[in-house]
Amino acid sequence: LRELPGDPESGPRPRQVQAAWSRVQPTPVAAPRLVAHSREMAAELGWSDDEVRASAFADVFGGNALLPGMDPFATNYGGHQFGHWAGQLGDGRAITLGEAVLPGGARRELQLKGAGLTPYSRTADGRAVLRSSVREFLCSEAMHHLGIPTTRALCLVATGETVVRDMFYDGRPQAEPGAVVCRVAPSFLRFGHFELPSARGDTALLRQLADVCIRRDFPHLFDGGDDAPLEALQRRGAFTPERYAAWFAEVCERTARLVAGWMRVGFVHGVLNTDNMSILGLTIDYGPYGWIDDYDPDWTPNTTDAQGRRYRFGWQPRVAHWNLARLAQALSPLFDDAAPLQAGLDRYADAYVQAERDTIARKLGLVGCEDSDVELMQRLQSLMQAARVDMTLGFRALADVDPAHPSADVLADAFYDTALREAHAPALEAWLQAYAQRLSRDPLDAAGRRARMAAANPRYVLRNYLAQQAIDRAEAGDDAGVAELLDVVRRPCDDQPGREAFAAKRPEWARTRAGCSM
Ligand code: AMP
Ligand code: MG
Ligand code: MG
Repeated sequence: LRELPGDPESGPRPRQVQAAWSRVQPTPVAAPRLVAHSREMAAELGWSDDEVRASAFADVFGGNALLPGMDPFATNYGGHQFGHWAGQLGDGRAITLGEAVLPGGARRELQLKGAGLTPYSRTADGRAVLRSSVREFLCSEAMHHLGIPTTRALCLVATGETVVRDMFYDGRPQAEPGAVVCRVAPSFLRFGHFELPSARGDTALLRQLADVCIRRDFPHLFDGGDDAPLEALQRRGAFTPERYAAWFAEVCERTARLVAGWMRVGFVHGVLNTDNMSILGLTIDYGPYGWIDDYDPDWTPNTTDAQGRRYRFGWQPRVAHWNLARLAQALSPLFDDAAPLQAGLDRYADAYVQAERDTIARKLGLVGCEDSDVELMQRLQSLMQAARVDMTLGFRALADVDPAHPSADVLADAFYDTALREAHAPALEAWLQAYAQRLSRDPLDAAGRRARMAAANPRYVLRNYLAQQAIDRAEAGDDAGVAELLDVVRRPCDDQPGREAFAAKRPEWARTRAGCSM
């Protein structure tokens, strides 16, 4: 263990950086204390529970010490924010400690978020508050357990220091407890990593980044899994336009599956800027995200999304496509013509339609999705919106529909408004009749259908108010709420006796508590 010096004079100065990364050290904090950890993630990385609870662990993952072999760095990227090119952004508060190589050879990058200033911090402080760190920690693990690709979280360490933030509801500065999350992924490369060198006309750096990314994270794109070193592959001319085309198409396909996953469970990312898009198709950057309660494709948790439109739930598929088009533009210097890039974007559209049909079949408990099922789903979603039905409870309850006697009574717990419920009851009954008829043509038996639906329609999602309750407790010094909520979201599709409260509809008092800022 190597203690880090807390000398502010030696710290980084925010600046424009002409390279892909900068060596930088975490800034030590006053009193690192482990608040929570993911036991699956710790086990994957080879740490026992005792090792995790030792003070050395909190020292390393709070940013006060390094393990042998760690050589921390922050990376440089740009991005399109809210539709406009924003120039250099970079890891303003993210510092990668190093890469763990797992027994099978897979790589896991360990990255601290909130560990202090980097050359990319611009005017901000490089820190994160406990509130946003709890949200990132819990949601990335929840996402993983929902079967949706995501960066993971190893642990959450309170710093014993305060951080000042302007509160989003009254704009006044407030001191809050600080924290550091250690997130984990094979790579944290974003679309914006490729956009920045491209925007600067640095094709050599762009090409080098693309080659590193393909060699490291897409090795299957080499025939026979060629594992020659990067330089050898480059000398041999292995990075052809065809290879880049296959890579971009796969990025598009992964992105399509990612977004379809979000749409399946009602997750709204909230800041789908190109700097928050993973090249691996992972959910990345848990900021003002939110979960749909009453079904509403127009809802966004992002209070800074001025028109409240760009980053709403129902627009995620097209915003992802727009972001991929920005990536295509950035990668164009690697291609002789635009056709392969257009082909990749088309692949996105096809893959999304395919993934959406798969979602429809699974959520409705059908073996496969027929063309008319797409319309059946759209009608249901329109009704859920009009009648203000809770998305999670509504879909979960559909498994209880008796095809012989379909009745809207199964949805009784899912409504937010009695008057709307009554107003739309006839339409809902009609829809259920159509659904029952459709089920009668489907080969799945009742048990098979229930199982299929239960696996696609989670019972427990990280509702905004649930996260907030765990945060309130953590801020008061009680970490147990975070651990308990983590345990709930570890098995989102199981019925967990005694934990009905975590599956309940959002209470009325929680209605106005939207997602939180950074
Ligand atoms: P985000 O909106 O979270 O995607 O962040 C956009 C940019 O702002 C990224 O370059 C972040 O690294 C940077 N950033 C966000 N919060 C902070 C902070 N507290 N300190 C330094 N940089 C930050
Ligand atoms: Mg970001
Ligand atoms: Mg962020």
